[in-house]
Amino acid sequence: MQNQDHRRGFFKRVKLMAAGAMGAPLALASGVPAQETRSLPSARGSLAKTPNGFVHPHRVLLWENTRKEYRELQESGQLKAAILPTGSIEQHNEHMAMVADVAIATLISQKAALDLYPHVIVAPPSPCGYAPYHMARPGTLTLRKETFLAYILDVMSCLKAHGVRTIMILNGHGGNHHPIQEALPKFRSELGINIDADSYWTGANREYTSQFMRAKQPTSHAGEFETSIYAAAFPERLRPFTMADYDHAHLNYESGFSPEIQEFLRRDGRTFKNGRIDARGENKRDRRRQEEALLARPETGEKILSKAIEFVADRVKQMIAATEAGKSWPVS
Ligand SMILES: [Zn+2]
Repeated sequence: MQNQDHRRGFFKRVKLMAAGAMGAPLALASGVPAQETRSLPSARGSLAKTPNGFVHPHRVLLWENTRKEYRELQESGQLKAAILPTGSIEQHNEHMAMVADVAIATLISQKAALDLYPHVIVAPPSPCGYAPYHMARPGTLTLRKETFLAYILDVMSCLKAHGVRTIMILNGHGGNHHPIQEALPKFRSELGINIDADSYWTGANREYTSQFMRAKQPTSHAGEFETSIYAAAFPERLRPFTMADYDHAHLNYESGFSPEIQEFLRRDGRTFKNGRIDARGENKRDRRRQEEALLARPETGEKILSKAIEFVADRVKQMIAATEAGKSWPVS
């Protein structure tokens, strides 16, 4: 972003997109009754200015297109790549709605696709991810590792069948990172197309880590980093809290688990002695995350998002160039 005004406009658009990113029609999000939207021109409500002009932000989301729109895009030869966001539905301490990792990865994918419009389509984000170690906090959902990886492979093979030859998996959840990286060679050899995978913070961390992670042992989960992104893009998903409230809840994540919960934790290599988990300091860690969240600022979130979007758009652009040149990815 070249200047302040430009940046402010950009984040106004990010917020508009965020309001509509997870399925609610944008017209509804901005207060227009559903029945009125039928007769409205398609681009009413929120427009996103991209280097390629004004584009409705829904246009790059595969599931918001009709079959006619997808078919025409495919037949025009303009569809070059897809981004597949992966996330998790899991606890993000006391203050963040659990959709965080899915919502953030989807938003970044959507904005990067808009920057490359009309060449990139965003596949639906993974509904859940691999997060058994969060299961002690109620509300968290996790897939088995093999279910999660099979889901990704299945979606990618459909995209391939519909003409996509370049796919970027954009991950938004720490626990998914290694399973995806380990499966990447298999994905590539099974599908025989150009595939890459990375987590969005790879693009943001390099420049900003030191500024965000002030604590000696960084605890980015639900702390300053992610809470700042919420403050910038999803303020309606952020709840007010105080440390007094936190302490008053007397939370305990080190013992007292049901046999079912123990089983999920064991899946991730945890062991128990007299019902007490081996990971000592878990309660302290949880409290520190809550405290770090108080450092969150929307400006910090804007910087992280800008960097991450730029990182993803750049990567996909390079991948498309490789595919067009008949080279396999990564180009050696
Ligand atoms: Zn998260």
